[in-house]
Amino acid sequence: MPVEKYVPNKTTTLDIPVQTLSEMPTSESKLGHKVGFISLGCPKNLVDSERILTQLRTEGYDVVPSFDKADVVIVNTCGFIDAAVEESLDTIGEALDQNGKVIVTGCLGVKDDEIREVHPNVLAITGPHAYEEVVNIVHEHLPKPEHNPYLDLVPDHGIKLTPKHFAYLKISEGCNHRCTFCIIPSMRGDLVSRPIGDVLSEAIRLKSAGVKELLVISQDTSAYGVDKKHLTDFWEGTPVKSNMLALSWKLGEMDVWVRLHYVYPYPHVDDIIPLMAEGKILPYLDIPFQHASKRILKLMKRPGSAERTVERIKRWREICPDLVIRSTFIVGFPGETEDEFEELLSFLKDAQIDRVGCFMYSPVEGATANQLPDQVPEEIKQARYSKFMQVQSEISYTRLQQRIGNEYFVIVDEVTSEGAVARSYAEAPEIDGVIHINDFFDVSPGDRLWVQIIHADEHDLWAVPAESEK
Ligand code: SF4
Repeated sequence: MPVEKYVPNKTTTLDIPVQTLSEMPTSESKLGHKVGFISLGCPKNLVDSERILTQLRTEGYDVVPSFDKADVVIVNTCGFIDAAVEESLDTIGEALDQNGKVIVTGCLGVKDDEIREVHPNVLAITGPHAYEEVVNIVHEHLPKPEHNPYLDLVPDHGIKLTPKHFAYLKISEGCNHRCTFCIIPSMRGDLVSRPIGDVLSEAIRLKSAGVKELLVISQDTSAYGVDKKHLTDFWEGTPVKSNMLALSWKLGEMDVWVRLHYVYPYPHVDDIIPLMAEGKILPYLDIPFQHASKRILKLMKRPGSAERTVERIKRWREICPDLVIRSTFIVGFPGETEDEFEELLSFLKDAQIDRVGCFMYSPVEGATANQLPDQVPEEIKQARYSKFMQVQSEISYTRLQQRIGNEYFVIVDEVTSEGAVARSYAEAPEIDGVIHINDFFDVSPGDRLWVQIIHADEHDLWAVPAESEK
């Protein structure tokens, strides 16, 4: 139950892609068809990177995670907040210095002028999910390698940038909401859901490739299928409705961990909780509440208010006592008064959210919240942020202590010199804490293990292998 600190200069949360790219076998073609690839930003962007890489590898290009050894470099950028824009521009600059031939794609790509103003020499710029366009630009600057029929560099499930045992499953693009602090819809457009049959087939392919945990992602997972008017599609000969409930139900039948991320707090989220209680999908809900004050939520153009949300969470926990809730909040939103901030703190104490990320509000170019009156001074934002962190740290510590003695299945992520590092249903990879199983080496990444929690701080847990499995 960590309280995440927002590090302004590091918006990329995923370290794994670089590692995965370094370990990727090369074609040994020695023809110099090497594409350097840097994936910045969130898991949604990571999935875009996986698609581009899958196509490039299918065509016989080698992919390297460095600038100097590449013939051309692709930077998949993030433009979510100003710090992300800065990181993306810096990375493009580094790629230009060290390589010179740079193609830019991803969210920041929609701000073509802004990129060209700083880096006029980039070869080309595309927006997000422009897979084909990026690959075509690569063809223009680096001819397609000759196809070698004896060499298959791409597995059936495509290129994955995550470890073998977990994978992101992107179910839609874009978002129909217009939260005033966010510019995602202007970068990624309105909601477009993938056909449910395609999503389920991809899930099956991933499972066959050894994936044990599917992380369902999108900008707004609970809106899945809204654009298709929840059309009934067919998958393996049976009708399936295009909505979050049917999708979760079907994924839940695949005998893998299914974890839902980025669930917007619509009323129909309530329908998912019984599935979690039945063990169909993991009792883990990543639901960004952003604030508790009704007035601030209205200014943010988001639904909800503290009392109703606390009531809902109570009901969810009655139905599913194991439920772990992850959420994110913004402090210092324009117009936030001291009383409204206090309301947020009381909400935290009442709701006892398990895992929390906190951001200090920062204006994002193009966001409508920039025009709101009463912007909160930086020092007040900082003070509120520190207080928020302190309150949530105490909640986190207390809640983690309550898990001591409990037994869980865990999935091992890595084995270090100190022992195994794993996660239970209550910890999502990359963003939550981990479970350390010290001095235990006789396992490999992806193995499942039954453990007992013996110790916890406000962030991580420690466990020992337990005698019997459930
Ligand atoms: S739900 Fe709001 S914050 Fe999330 S992507 Fe859509 S507009 Fe942005």
